[in-house]
Amino acid sequence: MNIAKNFQAVLAEIENAREKKSVAPNEEIILVAVTKNHGVSLMREAIDAGAKNIGENRVQEAAEKFQNLNREVIRHLIGHLQTNKVKQAVKLFDLIQSVDSEHLAAALDKAAAQIGKVQDVLIQVNLAREPQKSGIPPEDLNSLINLVDASKNLRLRGLMFIAPNFSDVEKCRPLFKQMRKLFDELKTSRENFDFLSMGMTHDYKIAIEEGANVVRLGTAIFGERSLNA
Ligand SMILES: *Cc1c(COP(=O)(O)O)cnc(C)c1O
Repeated sequence: MNIAKNFQAVLAEIENAREKKSVAPNEEIILVAVTKNHGVSLMREAIDAGAKNIGENRVQEAAEKFQNLNREVIRHLIGHLQTNKVKQAVKLFDLIQSVDSEHLAAALDKAAAQIGKVQDVLIQVNLAREPQKSGIPPEDLNSLINLVDASKNLRLRGLMFIAPNFSDVEKCRPLFKQMRKLFDELKTSRENFDFLSMGMTHDYKIAIEEGANVVRLGTAIFGERSLNA
Protein backbone atom coordinates (compact mmCIF):
# COMPACT_ATOMS: atom_id res chain seq x y z
CA MET A 1 0.00 0.00 0.00
CA ASN A 2 1.61 3.24 -1.11
CA ILE A 3 -0.11 5.89 0.97
CA ALA A 4 1.71 8.85 -0.57
CA LYS A 5 0.77 7.70 -4.06
CA ASN A 6 -2.86 7.08 -3.10
CA PHE A 7 -2.99 10.46 -1.43
CA GLN A 8 -1.75 12.21 -4.57
CA ALA A 9 -4.20 10.23 -6.73
CA VAL A 10 -7.08 11.31 -4.51
CA LEU A 11 -6.01 14.96 -4.72
CA ALA A 12 -6.07 14.65 -8.51
CA GLU A 13 -9.56 13.08 -8.42
CA ILE A 14 -10.75 15.91 -6.21
CA GLU A 15 -9.55 18.43 -8.79
CA ASN A 16 -11.26 16.45 -11.58
CA ALA A 17 -14.52 16.45 -9.66
CA ARG A 18 -14.16 20.16 -9.02
CA GLU A 19 -14.34 20.79 -12.76
CA LYS A 20 -17.85 19.36 -12.78
CA LYS A 21 -18.87 21.30 -9.72
CA SER A 22 -22.18 23.07 -10.11
CA VAL A 23 -21.83 25.42 -7.10
CA ALA A 24 -18.98 27.46 -5.60
CA PRO A 25 -16.36 26.22 -8.09
CA ASN A 26 -13.41 27.94 -6.39
CA GLU A 27 -14.18 26.90 -2.86
CA GLU A 28 -11.38 25.16 -0.99
CA ILE A 29 -12.03 21.41 -0.62
CA ILE A 30 -10.70 19.87 2.56
CA LEU A 31 -9.58 16.26 2.47
CA VAL A 32 -9.93 14.48 5.81
CA ALA A 33 -7.86 11.29 5.87
CA VAL A 34 -9.84 8.76 7.90
CA THR A 35 -7.46 6.60 9.91
CA LYS A 36 -9.96 4.61 12.00
CA ASN A 37 -8.92 0.97 12.50
CA HIS A 38 -5.40 1.77 11.31
CA GLY A 39 -2.35 2.21 13.50
CA VAL A 40 -0.57 5.43 14.32
CA SER A 41 2.21 4.67 11.86
CA LEU A 42 -0.26 4.93 8.97
CA MET A 43 -1.54 8.15 10.45
CA ARG A 44 2.01 9.51 10.40
CA GLU A 45 2.53 8.29 6.86
CA ALA A 46 -0.56 10.13 5.68
CA ILE A 47 0.56 13.33 7.38
CA ASP A 48 4.02 12.99 5.88
CA ALA A 49 2.34 12.52 2.48
CA GLY A 50 0.61 15.87 2.95
CA ALA A 51 -2.56 15.20 4.96
CA LYS A 52 -3.43 18.24 7.05
CA ASN A 53 -6.68 16.81 8.43
CA ILE A 54 -7.16 13.46 10.15
CA GLY A 55 -10.52 11.86 10.99
CA GLU A 56 -11.22 9.28 13.67
CA ASN A 57 -14.57 7.78 14.63
CA ARG A 58 -13.88 6.60 18.18
CA VAL A 59 -12.69 8.76 21.03
CA GLN A 60 -10.68 6.11 22.85
CA GLU A 61 -8.90 4.89 19.74
CA ALA A 62 -8.09 8.46 18.73
CA ALA A 63 -6.75 9.33 22.19
CA GLU A 64 -4.26 6.49 22.09
CA LYS A 65 -3.05 7.33 18.61
CA PHE A 66 -2.81 11.09 19.09
CA GLN A 67 -0.73 10.53 22.19
CA ASN A 68 1.97 8.83 20.14
CA LEU A 69 1.59 10.83 16.95
CA ASN A 70 4.32 13.45 17.22
CA ARG A 71 2.86 15.45 14.36
CA GLU A 72 0.77 18.60 14.08
CA VAL A 73 -2.54 17.96 12.35
CA ILE A 74 -6.14 19.14 12.43
CA ARG A 75 -8.19 16.51 14.24
CA HIS A 76 -11.76 15.63 13.31
CA LEU A 77 -14.22 13.41 15.14
CA ILE A 78 -16.49 11.88 12.51
CA GLY A 79 -18.20 9.08 14.45
CA HIS A 80 -21.15 9.08 16.82
CA LEU A 81 -20.25 10.61 20.19
CA GLN A 82 -21.68 9.42 23.48
CA THR A 83 -22.17 11.96 26.23
CA ASN A 84 -19.91 10.04 28.60
CA LYS A 85 -17.00 10.76 26.21
CA VAL A 86 -17.49 14.52 25.76
CA LYS A 87 -14.80 15.54 28.25
CA GLN A 88 -12.19 13.58 26.36
CA ALA A 89 -13.57 14.65 22.99
CA VAL A 90 -13.26 18.39 23.61
CA LYS A 91 -9.64 17.91 24.64
CA LEU A 92 -8.79 15.87 21.56
CA PHE A 93 -10.61 17.30 18.57
CA ASP A 94 -10.46 20.55 16.63
CA LEU A 95 -13.75 19.83 14.85
CA ILE A 96 -16.50 17.51 16.09
CA GLN A 97 -18.50 16.67 12.97
CA SER A 98 -21.12 14.44 14.55
CA VAL A 99 -23.32 16.57 16.81
CA ASP A 100 -26.75 15.01 16.41
CA SER A 101 -28.89 15.79 19.45
CA GLU A 102 -29.68 18.59 21.89
CA HIS A 103 -28.59 16.35 24.73
CA LEU A 104 -25.13 15.89 23.17
CA ALA A 105 -24.79 19.58 22.29
CA ALA A 106 -25.56 20.59 25.87
CA ALA A 107 -23.03 18.10 27.25
CA LEU A 108 -20.35 19.29 24.81
CA ASP A 109 -20.96 22.92 25.69
CA LYS A 110 -20.51 22.17 29.36
CA ALA A 111 -17.35 20.11 28.80
CA ALA A 112 -15.85 22.80 26.55
CA ALA A 113 -16.64 25.48 29.15
CA GLN A 114 -14.83 23.46 31.79
CA ILE A 115 -11.59 23.61 29.84
CA GLY A 116 -12.14 27.17 28.60
CA LYS A 117 -12.49 26.18 24.95
CA VAL A 118 -14.87 27.18 22.22
CA GLN A 119 -15.46 23.91 20.41
CA ASP A 120 -16.03 23.96 16.66
CA VAL A 121 -18.81 21.60 15.64
CA LEU A 122 -20.82 20.43 12.66
CA ILE A 123 -24.35 19.14 12.93
CA GLN A 124 -24.86 15.72 11.37
CA VAL A 125 -28.10 15.55 9.41
CA ASN A 126 -29.91 12.28 8.75
CA LEU A 127 -31.41 13.60 5.54
CA ALA A 128 -32.35 10.17 4.21
CA ARG A 129 -33.96 9.27 7.57
CA GLU A 130 -32.13 5.99 7.83
CA PRO A 131 -33.13 4.39 11.14
CA GLN A 132 -29.72 2.77 11.70
CA LYS A 133 -27.80 6.02 11.17
CA SER A 134 -27.15 8.80 13.61
CA GLY A 135 -27.81 12.38 12.66
CA ILE A 136 -30.65 14.72 13.42
CA PRO A 137 -33.82 14.37 11.31
CA PRO A 138 -34.26 17.44 9.08
CA GLU A 139 -37.40 18.61 10.88
CA ASP A 140 -35.46 18.89 14.15
CA LEU A 141 -32.48 20.72 12.66
CA ASN A 142 -33.62 24.24 13.42
CA SER A 143 -34.15 23.70 17.09
CA LEU A 144 -30.73 22.03 17.40
CA ILE A 145 -29.16 24.99 15.58
CA ASN A 146 -30.85 27.36 18.01
CA LEU A 147 -29.48 25.43 20.94
CA VAL A 148 -25.93 25.41 19.53
CA ASP A 149 -26.21 29.14 18.81
CA ALA A 150 -27.20 29.73 22.41
CA SER A 151 -24.24 27.68 23.68
CA LYS A 152 -21.37 30.00 24.52
CA ASN A 153 -18.73 27.30 24.19
CA LEU A 154 -19.85 25.86 20.86
CA ARG A 155 -19.34 27.37 17.43
CA LEU A 156 -21.37 25.96 14.56
CA ARG A 157 -19.14 25.61 11.49
CA GLY A 158 -21.49 23.74 9.13
CA LEU A 159 -23.22 20.45 8.39
CA MET A 160 -22.22 16.82 7.97
CA PHE A 161 -24.01 14.10 6.05
CA ILE A 162 -23.43 10.39 5.45
CA ALA A 163 -25.22 9.20 2.32
CA PRO A 164 -26.98 5.83 2.22
CA ASN A 165 -24.85 3.03 0.86
CA PHE A 166 -26.72 2.67 -2.45
CA SER A 167 -25.28 0.14 -4.88
CA ASP A 168 -26.06 2.71 -7.57
CA VAL A 169 -24.04 5.63 -6.27
CA GLU A 170 -25.86 8.07 -8.57
CA LYS A 171 -28.83 7.74 -6.22
CA CYS A 172 -26.84 9.82 -3.71
CA ARG A 173 -26.71 12.80 -6.03
CA PRO A 174 -30.12 14.35 -5.23
CA LEU A 175 -29.42 13.98 -1.51
CA PHE A 176 -26.05 15.74 -1.84
CA LYS A 177 -27.75 18.45 -3.85
CA GLN A 178 -30.39 18.88 -1.17
CA MET A 179 -27.71 19.11 1.54
CA ARG A 180 -25.91 21.86 -0.39
CA LYS A 181 -29.16 23.77 -0.74
CA LEU A 182 -29.79 23.51 2.99
CA PHE A 183 -26.19 24.56 3.70
CA ASP A 184 -26.42 27.59 1.39
CA GLU A 185 -29.72 28.73 2.89
CA LEU A 186 -28.24 28.65 6.38
CA LYS A 187 -24.96 30.19 5.28
CA THR A 188 -26.56 33.40 3.99
CA SER A 189 -27.46 34.51 7.50
CA ARG A 190 -24.54 33.09 9.46
CA GLU A 191 -20.86 33.71 10.21
CA ASN A 192 -18.17 31.02 10.29
CA PHE A 193 -20.57 28.60 8.65
CA ASP A 194 -18.04 27.20 6.19
CA PHE A 195 -18.10 23.42 6.03
CA LEU A 196 -20.31 20.94 4.26
CA SER A 197 -18.83 17.54 5.05
CA MET A 198 -20.11 14.78 2.78
CA GLY A 199 -18.55 12.15 0.58
CA MET A 200 -16.66 8.96 1.41
CA THR A 201 -14.60 6.68 -0.81
CA HIS A 202 -17.49 5.33 -2.88
CA ASP A 203 -19.34 8.61 -3.37
CA TYR A 204 -16.95 11.55 -2.89
CA LYS A 205 -16.69 12.54 -6.55
CA ILE A 206 -20.45 12.99 -6.79
CA ALA A 207 -20.49 14.71 -3.40
CA ILE A 208 -17.94 17.26 -4.63
CA GLU A 209 -19.81 17.82 -7.89
CA GLU A 210 -22.86 18.65 -5.80
CA GLY A 211 -21.07 20.97 -3.42
CA ALA A 212 -19.21 19.12 -0.65
CA ASN A 213 -16.24 21.12 0.61
CA VAL A 214 -15.07 18.54 3.15
CA VAL A 215 -14.66 14.89 2.12
CA ARG A 216 -13.79 12.06 4.51
CA LEU A 217 -11.74 9.33 2.87
CA GLY A 218 -10.39 6.16 4.40
CA THR A 219 -10.35 3.30 1.89
CA ALA A 220 -9.23 5.48 -1.05
CA ILE A 221 -6.04 6.36 0.85
CA PHE A 222 -5.34 3.36 3.08
CA GLY A 223 -7.07 0.47 1.29
CA GLU A 224 -9.69 -1.81 2.80
CA ARG A 225 -9.97 -1.95 6.57
CA SER A 226 -9.97 -5.44 8.04
CA LEU A 227 -13.51 -6.54 8.89
CA ASN A 228 -13.00 -7.24 12.55
CA ALA A 229 -10.82 -4.21 13.24
C1 LIG B 1 -15.23 5.32 7.97
C2 LIG B 1 -15.84 6.61 7.68
C3 LIG B 1 -15.48 7.34 6.54
C4 LIG B 1 -14.48 6.83 5.51
O1 LIG B 1 -15.02 5.77 4.81
P1 LIG B 1 -14.32 5.17 3.49
O2 LIG B 1 -15.43 4.52 2.77
O3 LIG B 1 -13.28 4.21 3.95
O4 LIG B 1 -13.75 6.31 2.74
C5 LIG B 1 -16.08 8.56 6.33
N1 LIG B 1 -16.99 9.07 7.19
C6 LIG B 1 -17.36 8.41 8.30
C7 LIG B 1 -18.37 9.01 9.20
C8 LIG B 1 -16.81 7.16 8.58
O5 LIG B 1 -17.19 6.51 9.68
